[in-house]
Amino acid sequence: MTPPALVVTLKGLGLTSLAKVVPTLLETARQQQWPYETVLAQAVEAELAGRAERAYARRVRAAHLPTTKSLESFDFAFQPSLSERLVQELGTLGFVQTATNIVLLGPPGVGKTHLALALTARALEAGYSARFTTLRQLADELETTSWRQQRRRYLTPRLLVIDEIGYLRLTASQAQQLFDLVTARYEQAPMVLTSNRSFAEWGTLLGDDVLATALLDRLLHHAEVIPITGQSYRMKDRRLSEPAAAVPSADSGVRKEG
Ligand code: ADP
Ligand code: MG
Repeated sequence: MTPPALVVTLKGLGLTSLAKVVPTLLETARQQQWPYETVLAQAVEAELAGRAERAYARRVRAAHLPTTKSLESFDFAFQPSLSERLVQELGTLGFVQTATNIVLLGPPGVGKTHLALALTARALEAGYSARFTTLRQLADELETTSWRQQRRRYLTPRLLVIDEIGYLRLTASQAQQLFDLVTARYEQAPMVLTSNRSFAEWGTLLGDDVLATALLDRLLHHAEVIPITGQSYRMKDRRLSEPAAAVPSADSGVRKEG
């Protein structure tokens, strides 16, 4: 009963979500004898909900997350060195508002990337833009992409995650560009960084102690530094399966690896 022209017009106006549901919506309205106000309110709501969903999907795509992780799936009991209260507090995203950086430090497997991804997921859900990258990827791109592209990728997003600082030594020009990036975001927009190196070692990473000091000065001025000193979660299953391995049984052929 909905005139096809109406659907076309709605699409033409960019009201694509409403265009999709309008036949059903009008049919329900007729059956349930909705007042005009309800019909209009439902129509507007359908369009707004559709837009919010598409915007969220766009933000998620633009963030380039390697996988999805959540704070809910983080086992705090396994990592007693980490304050659950602090992490949950960070999950309420005050740090995004105040442009406070978060630096997660610790050996491999303690959940640094997991937490960085979980905080990013929260930010995306809350409507912030974000971008996830590793230092290796960032260092490559700083050298091979235009300044415009770099701005779009690393300055425009409200939250920038740089994962795995410490596996790569930067060239002089990469170190300088990383410094420029940190300076440009300083007090404007927050970063989440993860590293398996202590700050004392960042001079070596950047190949320049003076530059590293200046970078850390800006980075840590407004920052939450979170050292995680516990065990690797990747080893958890392995450790648990060790006693079983000592006593071979018929079904011990399959071992779960981290
Ligand atoms: P890191 O970045 O510190 O090397 P990851 O965050 O990559 O460690 O963690 C390794 C794997 O273990 C990931 O699959 C992650 O989801 C999982 N993991 C680590 N710590 C925990 C934890 N406390 N609770 C649940 N999963 C964890
Ligand atoms: Mg990691």
